[in-house]
Amino acid sequence: MIARSVFDEEHNIFRESVRRFYEEHITPHRSEWEKDGHISREAWLEAGRQGLLCMPIPEEYGGLGADKLYSIIMMEEQARAGASGPGFSLHSEIVAPYILNYGTEEQKKKFLPKLVSGEMIGAIAMTEPGAGSDLQGVKTRAVKDGDDYIINGSKTFITNGFMSDLVIVVAKTDPEAGAKGTTLFLVEADQNGFSKGRNLEKLGLKSQDTAELFFDDVRVPASNILGGEGQGFICLMQELAWERLQIAIAAVATMEIVLEETIEYTKERSAFGRNVIQFQNTKFKLAEAKTEVQIARVFVDKCIEELLKGELDVPTAAMAKYWCSDLENKVIDECLQLHGGYGYMWEYRVARAYADARVQRIYGGTNEIMKEIISRSL
Ligand SMILES: Cc1cc2nc3c(=O)[nH]c(=O)nc-3n(C[C@H](O)[C@H](O)[C@H](O)COP(=O)(O)OP(=O)(O)OC[C@H]3O[C@@H](n4cnc5c(N)ncnc54)[C@H](O)[C@@H]3O)c2cc1C
Repeated sequence: MIARSVFDEEHNIFRESVRRFYEEHITPHRSEWEKDGHISREAWLEAGRQGLLCMPIPEEYGGLGADKLYSIIMMEEQARAGASGPGFSLHSEIVAPYILNYGTEEQKKKFLPKLVSGEMIGAIAMTEPGAGSDLQGVKTRAVKDGDDYIINGSKTFITNGFMSDLVIVVAKTDPEAGAKGTTLFLVEADQNGFSKGRNLEKLGLKSQDTAELFFDDVRVPASNILGGEGQGFICLMQELAWERLQIAIAAVATMEIVLEETIEYTKERSAFGRNVIQFQNTKFKLAEAKTEVQIARVFVDKCIEELLKGELDVPTAAMAKYWCSDLENKVIDECLQLHGGYGYMWEYRVARAYADARVQRIYGGTNEIMKEIISRSL
């Protein structure tokens, strides 16, 4: 197999400690958190104590100023642990960077240290009941009132929403101005008029909190605008390549571990007097999956290299997101089939991976939207 070359020795040592974190603090609580529909606050705080949240945030705001490879290890190990509950990467790699990149000094000092420690849980609220792929259709309004803005509207499918302490809200400040009339607001959970709806019941990601959020005359000062009035879309566009690559990274790491376990399972399980791996169908299915996962791994590692150089473009990241998440669904489906009835049982990783994988083709921009983006670059 082609050896990976993106990580050095320090990264490998760090990977061991992250693996231990998931084994000790996340995996043992899986069933309990699946019933709760969210992980515990203590898990967020422990991740913070171990320095595993918002690692790229500079030291002056409490972070480690680490390179993105550390964040990638965190994502890969989360996938390896089959821990689909923690919304750590959205918090650390989407919410915190928005504040770092577009926030005022005051906003950075106020929020970043608490996001790093896990005292505050971050979310980003773009999607609404009537607007997902087409974000221009956002109806949430923020109307200027003296030095404040008053926000009205609702959001849905918000990761970390139920436990969120800080939400980046996408709202229209000038509905006539199209993309230029969209602004990002920082809204804290205790602000009057802000409420959380149900923690939504989902097909997979059972212990990940995904909620509806409501804004009913929420008054926020103009100093809570993130990135300037009318700059919302411009901010949202800046980190798209990284945000989408994260989905591909998780997809490949998940496929690798599911495939590894499936190979082991088929070596042990017997039927008709032989091990299941000895049937030609099994060998060919596994050979196909191994080949495709290897291709995905090489492509994603190349994308990671481009990302580190600051050269990963949006269409290439869209290719990685769409192709790897489609492949993830296909490979996991084949692996589940090779497990027979046990593959359908929740206690088996492959069953949970099957349920969790489906949304990878939907969130972060649907795979159809990814193809739109790629086709525009042709
Ligand atoms: C578990 C989960 C977590 C999520 N987390 C967040 C979050 O933290 N924050 C947040 O803001 N959102 C979040 N989302 C929302 C997610 O980003 C949207 O669901 C997604 O962008 C699709 O939007 P939609 O659901 O409105 O589907 P729609 O936009 O209504 O799409 C319906 C179908 O039409 C297709 N379609 C739409 N437009 C086109 C087009 N131009 N060409 C071809 N086909 C098209 C789509 O691909 C899809 O197949 C989450 C969703 C889920 C399920």
